Amino acid sequence: MANQPIKKMEKYIQEVKKYRELLKGNRKSFWAKNQKEFEKNITRIVGESRKPRGWKVYLVVSDFVPHKKILPFDDETWSSTNIVGATKKQGFEIMAFFNRAGSFLSRPALLTLVLHELWHVSQITKSPKKYLKSIVDDKLSMKLEADAEKPIEILPKTIKDEVVLEKILYCYDIGGWLAAKKMADFMYKKREKIYGGGYLQEMDKNCYNAFLTARQKRNINLFIGYLDNDQ
Ligand SMILES: [Zn+2]
Repeated sequence: MANQPIKKMEKYIQEVKKYRELLKGNRKSFWAKNQKEFEKNITRIVGESRKPRGWKVYLVVSDFVPHKKILPFDDETWSSTNIVGATKKQGFEIMAFFNRAGSFLSRPALLTLVLHELWHVSQITKSPKKYLKSIVDDKLSMKLEADAEKPIEILPKTIKDEVVLEKILYCYDIGGWLAAKKMADFMYKKREKIYGGGYLQEMDKNCYNAFLTARQKRNINLFIGYLDNDQ
């Protein structure tokens, strides 16, 4: 996997394999541990990635709506990478904002979020003007978003499945089948079209159907089993 932006992908895959057993049991401490280590996990992934030369990159981890519990399928869950300055006088600085709404995710599952934002960092360093223009140009925005999904597209399937699994299970744990269904609908139907578009569909048709079957039979373990066997 020569194109992988992360050097030690195998390490993440091993981590996921370990989590698969954990996810079948009591997941409460799993979410709590991830939430506690959210900042550390982001910093570590960023640290393992290529650094842009001549630019300063700030990492901000926070919430948009501090007094409201934001669920992973809500509107206020997005993260964003923005230009702070891009001239000699103002400095070459970028701010990457990571939304705490995703803090329940384990480190391997955070790869999709972090690598997407880091790709925006490299888009900025290549052409700050183009990046700036994208916020008032839907077509360009869509192009840049689709481009920022490239490092996600080439991630190993095990990692991509883990993201889906953790998102569904977390929603199921905090809000039952209703919340889990909202999450599945978001990943299967909505995600591609949000904002200017250009995003990947996180959940394919077979996976969505497997979720619906598990829901019909009121057995979340069927869904875990589906993703576990679908390697
Ligand atoms: Zn983006």
